[in-house]
Amino acid sequence: MTNKYMYFIANWKMFGTLKTLNSLKKVISFSDNFKKNKLSIIYCPPTTLIRPLFKKLKKSSIEVGAQNCHESKSYASLTGQINSGMLKDIGAKYVILGHSENRQTGEDNILINKKIKSSLKSGLKVILCIGETLKEKKNNKTNKVLNSQIKDCLSGIKNYSNVIIAYEPVWAIGTGKIPKLDNLKNNILYIKKKFKKKSIKVLYGGSVNGKNINDLKKISLIDGFLIGGESRDPNKFIDIIKKTYN
Ligand code: PEP
Repeated sequence: MTNKYMYFIANWKMFGTLKTLNSLKKVISFSDNFKKNKLSIIYCPPTTLIRPLFKKLKKSSIEVGAQNCHESKSYASLTGQINSGMLKDIGAKYVILGHSENRQTGEDNILINKKIKSSLKSGLKVILCIGETLKEKKNNKTNKVLNSQIKDCLSGIKNYSNVIIAYEPVWAIGTGKIPKLDNLKNNILYIKKKFKKKSIKVLYGGSVNGKNINDLKKISLIDGFLIGGESRDPNKFIDIIKKTYN
């Protein structure tokens, strides 16, 4: 059982239409009645749904975030791109950056650093995803990878109050696998120690579900969960939240 303040962030990826938002009625009424002031629920839908979701959640404590943005701070001739200021303008409070699915298409730590700086300047809170690949894990490179992702992505940033780290081992995303609890605990501790005395929230992400949450919640260092697949079904998402506090 936990009694600490926890984050539950839903990463919908390329899922959802206007109609899908009706299914969130359940989550809204759940959040109105469940442990207020004890948790943050944040939905990160595709960009097309940020504004309608923001409007739907106006009276609720659930917040809205985006899944990525362009690093440009102002207007640029970039067809199809959206910057952090534009996301803020339509109601986003958070933005997920450095997700491994975007790293796999070429985003590196230097680009992610630019995105973080521009997002913080625009007034967004950043959820920075870090994590090792299976090959890196097998080669005992996890700490080295986490260290350089933290150092390079947050280079030049002194105030971490609007930064949340999501530790997402790449090999755990969408695979049904989660790290061994001892390893996970050590990795979360390693990340927290990198920030020395500046306390930082560190979430876990990667195949979180209604079964493994009973184990994951035992790691008291974890400040919440970034949830992909299981967040699309309101019942499963609510179940994970409830079980975290049971
Ligand atoms: C994610 O993509 O951020 C994620 C955690 O996905 P899943 O929960 O589906 O593994």
